[in-house]
Amino acid sequence: MTGVLSLLPEGRHGLLTRPPGGGPVPYEDASRYLAAGGYTPAPAPDALLERIDAVGLRGRGGAGFPAALKLRAVRDAPGTPVVVANGEEGEPGSVKDRWLLRHRPHLVLDGLRLAAAMTGAGRGCVYLSDARAERAVLRALAERPAGPPVDVVRTLHSYVAGEESAAVRRIDGGPALPTAKPPRPFERGVGGAPTLVANVETLARIALLHTWPEAAPGIADAHLVTLSGSGGRPALAEVAAGTRLDDLAGSCGHEKAEAVLLGGLFGGLYGTGWADLPLDQDGLRTAGGALGCGALYFLRPEDCPVAVATEATAYLAAQSARQCGVCVSGTGALAGALAAVVRGTAEPGTPDKLRRWSRQLPGRGACGLLDAAARIAASLLTHFPDRVDAHRYPGCPGCAGPSAEDGRRFLVAVP
Ligand code: SF4
Repeated sequence: MTGVLSLLPEGRHGLLTRPPGGGPVPYEDASRYLAAGGYTPAPAPDALLERIDAVGLRGRGGAGFPAALKLRAVRDAPGTPVVVANGEEGEPGSVKDRWLLRHRPHLVLDGLRLAAAMTGAGRGCVYLSDARAERAVLRALAERPAGPPVDVVRTLHSYVAGEESAAVRRIDGGPALPTAKPPRPFERGVGGAPTLVANVETLARIALLHTWPEAAPGIADAHLVTLSGSGGRPALAEVAAGTRLDDLAGSCGHEKAEAVLLGGLFGGLYGTGWADLPLDQDGLRTAGGALGCGALYFLRPEDCPVAVATEATAYLAAQSARQCGVCVSGTGALAGALAAVVRGTAEPGTPDKLRRWSRQLPGRGACGLLDAAARIAASLLTHFPDRVDAHRYPGCPGCAGPSAEDGRRFLVAVP
């Protein structure tokens, strides 16, 4: 059972709500949202944009791009923009976007309304695959008092369906597959119009920044994170930037963790020193990782990082949309080589080959899936060379027990 934890300092405005006394988190209807100050008239578009810029809000879909820059790029492109709330979370270990859409859809729709006001958009779209989230959004659209026309577009769930160009392609009636860039959606997106594709957490934070301007810095620097691992209690948590990763592990029963997989499957593995890392986009990047969508998977001492890396790359290879040749062959080669390592049947030169591929492959696919697979392989070799070495012969004690190579270990249920 996944829990919901607010780890923000007392008094901060956050996205996770719990009724007094705990229990299931209810759907926040329009009357509750309005009573909490939602849907107040949009300020002059530039005033909110400047506030977003001043507090340095970054996108929460994975890339961490400055939100104000993206809004301005869409606003300044020729044509009437479209705004898209992207609620399709492809990382198997992340639940934050579905939770927001299921429980606080008005916050997301309010953020979409404000994004439309800032960019001059004439219409919006909510893009998702989760049936419960869709029902909540449709109910909220029927209840909301204000906002531009909004369509709800459903897609089939996959790792790449939430990538922004895949979202545009699906909304336009095509398959949810990434396209080559340029053009990026802000230049030519839905129906050829400049399009803002914004993660639903980013939009929810924009709505909070509008409603609670005096609390803006704390709102902009908080993150929704999904915490999981073998053992422990999976949790959706809201935390302030800079929180140490060992504090996060301790909050969900992973006090004994010895390593972490960062950013869902996107940020790579981290071994010695992981506990001191701060939860922060720049801090993790400097350390060679990535926060991505904010999903963290903790490894116990008895978990084999080689097996975890193998399962993660096998999952990514299976999720490749198979439209870029280099991705099909690259993810397949990485997954195959790691599977040989974990079985103890790899050639002596395999670690060098993995190292070379993980330098050569990033940036060569139309989306980040290939980069994710390469980063996992590279991080395994950087942080766990001894564990890789221990697999030169079959029977590594850390691998005892079967490993389901289908990514199931990374799945987390939405609370
Ligand atoms: S990099 Fe891979 S997953 Fe991404 S678009 Fe190309 S084939 Fe599809």
